[in-house]
Amino acid sequence: MPLTFNILAETESGGRRAQLHLPHRTVQTPVFMPVGTAGTVKAVPQDTLETLGAEIILGNTYHLYLRPGHEPIRRMGGLHKFIGWPRALLTDSGGFQVFSLSQLRKVTDEGVRFRSHLDGSSHFFTPEHSMDVQIALGADICMAFDECTEYPADRTRAEESLRLTMAWARRSLNHFRAHQHEVPWQNELWVPPVPRTWGPGSDVANHEQRLGTQSLFGIVQGGMYRDLRRESAERLIEMDFDGYAIGGLSVGEPRDLTLEMISEVLPLLPKDKPRYVMGVGYPDEIEQYARMGVDMMDCVLPTRAARHGLLFTSEGRLNIKGKRYAEDQGPPDPACDCMVCRRYSRAYLRHLMQAGEALSGTLNSIHNLAYYLGIMERVRKSLHPQGSSAL
Ligand SMILES: [Zn+2]
Repeated sequence: MPLTFNILAETESGGRRAQLHLPHRTVQTPVFMPVGTAGTVKAVPQDTLETLGAEIILGNTYHLYLRPGHEPIRRMGGLHKFIGWPRALLTDSGGFQVFSLSQLRKVTDEGVRFRSHLDGSSHFFTPEHSMDVQIALGADICMAFDECTEYPADRTRAEESLRLTMAWARRSLNHFRAHQHEVPWQNELWVPPVPRTWGPGSDVANHEQRLGTQSLFGIVQGGMYRDLRRESAERLIEMDFDGYAIGGLSVGEPRDLTLEMISEVLPLLPKDKPRYVMGVGYPDEIEQYARMGVDMMDCVLPTRAARHGLLFTSEGRLNIKGKRYAEDQGPPDPACDCMVCRRYSRAYLRHLMQAGEALSGTLNSIHNLAYYLGIMERVRKSLHPQGSSAL
């Protein structure tokens, strides 16, 4: 059985509080998903992610396919077991990275030939191959293979790109349905060898893990053209995916255009299935979209910005490299009770950054993730009629 999605509360503006039941975890939505590019949310250990309350993280198919390869991961029992992450996982289709990272791409109706950004080796990705790789990785949620339309794209280009994405969506779905039983955890879900039985992040209360199947989401594309977005959504809904994503946003367009596309598509998507906006965004954006009825979001921003010394705080953005923090003994964010803000000062975080210490990226990332996850927790509480009891 693929995912089940139970809506607990809805608001007039469309926001909803729900539970997303996946094989490895029941995820409280709306949810922010940290991005674990190559099997790691950069600089942050898995047990720390658990303590922070992350219930689902992403893996990038393109990166994992190139290194260490999906076959070794399949032989070792799948991505959950390989990276030591018992909670839910989502893999993207590989499409976005093929188009943004690789060299010498050649796109045909059949698929994409590209060269690895690592060693220049040649690879051919088709919708079927993307499904095979994602089934081998074994994430709870897989994504249809799509072409992320660049911005700006003229009408002809956006139409052609959409035609390709819709054909690939159908082929992804057919292949996925025929092979989804081949997931490496088909008979047994992995649990950590020493289950945590105490303290924050303990998984004891969430041990209703159940066998199930992977789910597949379709991706709405169509560039910045409202009618193409509508057409894309309608055709995907006819195909009947387990959930729906809106892709091709946050690719350089102005923010009001992002909002316009989300507003156009959201009301068209089935109410009883999860809706995922890919690759957004800044803290105020994720809150806004969650209140509009977006259930899932992911973004590299909190961790990438952290490694560059940019902290998101209740007082706005804070560039920890600033000289004025050299002797500032206050916490990074006075309103944050994350493990970093409770223990360390701005002066220390600045020093770590200045000295190029590895801990710098770790501590900055932990705070930024805590901030993002905290936003979603607040939104969920405000959407839930009984307050926080269910959290
Ligand atoms: Zn903090």
